[in-house]
Formats: sequence, C-alpha cells, structure tokens
Amino acid sequence: MKRFFPEKILVEADVADLPLTRQVIGRCDGVPVETVASSREVILEAFHNRQGDFDGKKQLLLCRNRGRFLEPCPGTKPDYRCCGYVIVHTGTGCPLRCTYCVLQAYLNNPFITLYVNREDLLAELQSSPLLQQGAVCRLGTGEYMDSLALEHLTDFVPAILPFLHKHKNLVLELKTKTTEIDHLEGADHRGTLIVSWSLNAEEIVQTEELGAAPVCDRLAAAELLIAKGYRVGFHFDPLIYYPGWAEGYKKVIDMLRESISPEAVAWISIGSMRYMPALKQTALQQFPDTTIYSGEFIPGLDGKMRYLQDIRLEMYRRVTGWLREYSKDLCVYYCMESPHIWQTTMGFAPESNTALKRMLDQQVKI
Ligand code: SF4
Repeated sequence: MKRFFPEKILVEADVADLPLTRQVIGRCDGVPVETVASSREVILEAFHNRQGDFDGKKQLLLCRNRGRFLEPCPGTKPDYRCCGYVIVHTGTGCPLRCTYCVLQAYLNNPFITLYVNREDLLAELQSSPLLQQGAVCRLGTGEYMDSLALEHLTDFVPAILPFLHKHKNLVLELKTKTTEIDHLEGADHRGTLIVSWSLNAEEIVQTEELGAAPVCDRLAAAELLIAKGYRVGFHFDPLIYYPGWAEGYKKVIDMLRESISPEAVAWISIGSMRYMPALKQTALQQFPDTTIYSGEFIPGLDGKMRYLQDIRLEMYRRVTGWLREYSKDLCVYYCMESPHIWQTTMGFAPESNTALKRMLDQQVKI
C-alpha cells in the first residue's frame, strides 16, 4: 500500500521549533509548510467553511496537545462490557478512508493531526496514576487514528520503548490496517508491544476500507513480526452484515488459520457495526455509494445504532464457532456487547468490566 505523505503541512507557530516538528517536516521533502498562529482557529475555520475540493486528509497539522495524553477508554454504558484499556493520544485522524469510521462524526477536526509536544506525553506517562505500578496496563494508540499509518514520520515506537522497558507492567497495543512495520522489525520490543490488525471480509475491505492494505498483506505483515518474536492481535470489528457475509468472514478466518499460529495470538476481538445516529448522514455525504447504513438497525442502550439482536447473534455464533475451530485456547472477546450476547454465543460472560480486563491482562506476557 502507498505510504502517506501530506500535500501540505500546517504548523502551529508555538511548536515550530520542537524536535518532532522538525523531524516530520524533514521527512516530507518538498511538501509546502504553512505556519499558523492557532491550531484551534484553523480547525474551526476548516470545519465550518469546508468547500469545493478541500480535503483535510491530505493535510497534516502539527500542534500542541493542551489536554491530557492518557485517558481510560470511555467504553459505553455499563450494560456493555468494556476491556479497560488506556488510550494514548498521539494525534487524531488518519489517511485511510473507512466508510464506517466513527471519527467522521466524532471529531470536528478535518485535518490529520499530530501532537508534537512529545516531551509532555512522556512526562505524563511518568506521573500518571492510571499506570499503577504492578497492575498490568494495556495502552493503545489506535482509538483516534491508525497506530502505524504515520509511524514513518513520527518514530513513536522507538520514542516510547525505553519507557516501556522501565515499567514491566505496561504493554502497548498498536492497532492498524496497514503494513507499515519497517520500524518494528528491528525494534528491541522485549514483549512490550502487541501489534494488532483489524480484519474484515475482503469484499468489505475493497469497498469500505479505502486505502487500507488487503487482508492477505496484513496477515503477511503479522507473520513477519511473529518471526521477530512479537505477539499479535486481531480485531473483527466491525462485522458487517451483507449478502455473502458468512462466506466472506469464513474465508478470512481460513486465511488466518493457514498463516498464523494461534500461540502467537494474544487476543481476538469481535464487534458488529454500530454507530451514533449522526454518523450516517456525515458518512453518506462522504461516501454516497456505501450501502452499509441501509441495513436494519435499532438504537442500543447507549444510543448507538446496532443490528437487530438476532442478526448479531447469528454473526457472532458463526464467527466464534470458526475461531474455536482455529483454536480452542484463543482469547476471544466482544467489544461493547452485553452479558446476554456473551452468554448465548460463548457460554460465559465476564461478570464485570474488571473481569474482562483481567481476562485480557492474563494474555500479556512481558
Ligand atoms: S483506519 Fe481507523 S481511524 Fe483510520 S479511517 Fe479507518 S476506522 Fe478511521
């Protein structure tokens, strides 16, 4: 897949001299750079006055994060189980264009944005009460962007590894739909990194995950990293209900089975298509040809639209069944599903979010 380079870089004046700013600009040879007084004003202006061929995904904004870098995953209502990982904010937005991406409605910032005050991030990591000494803590950068799509510009992994090495209870999950693993192949990871790929049926990848690597390439990248001693994860999220879904997802799990040893898999999550109602209109403006919003959805207890329960149960039963055929020992979990769904399709349900967190923490082998 094609590596991302922006058509233009916007730099907040305040961060123009920071090392990461200089590094990113240096790696985008020939890309025009514009200095702006305030990132907030540029974002508001672009968000409210988007016109014509403006495309924020072709522009990279380098600015300061003035809020927190660490945040517990907000999960959803207590009725759904959440795995309790800690989000590390390295920026927002990504160059891929998934038609279901929640960020389209969640963010009012159209630019791909990198927080370049990395020293502040590392300082917050040092002092955060979220990373209690002793207890396993799973960190992740894949909540508001693809974890690896900009790694060739940012070198985030080498910057954070020394910190991870000093804190034996921490593991960083890098979630991606790319094959940007060059920086990882030679990294001294010592088991502190888990690289995970979102997987979907190839038909969905082709029509709904624009710019992402094909499934076979994602699995080939996983194989390469496993050979380097990494443990990996996979996320079947979102499962999308479309004519032929069963064959599509079965085929991907067959590919997984043929290429990846289950011992190397830390966890596999499953989640079905869900979205806040506001996303549909925004996504259809961006992607008028997508049909994924035309299925039968009902609002869940958290206000998000979900497939009817019968459809979810049918998809989950089939997918978990195929994963059990792959290996009975896999740690498979649902992202944002009710204890009823767990019980009906897996035969058990974590009694609380803490229990689900414990189940995943046990998979961490540092
Ligand atoms: S890879 Fe993730 S963050 Fe990027 S567009 Fe797709 S869903 Fe959104």
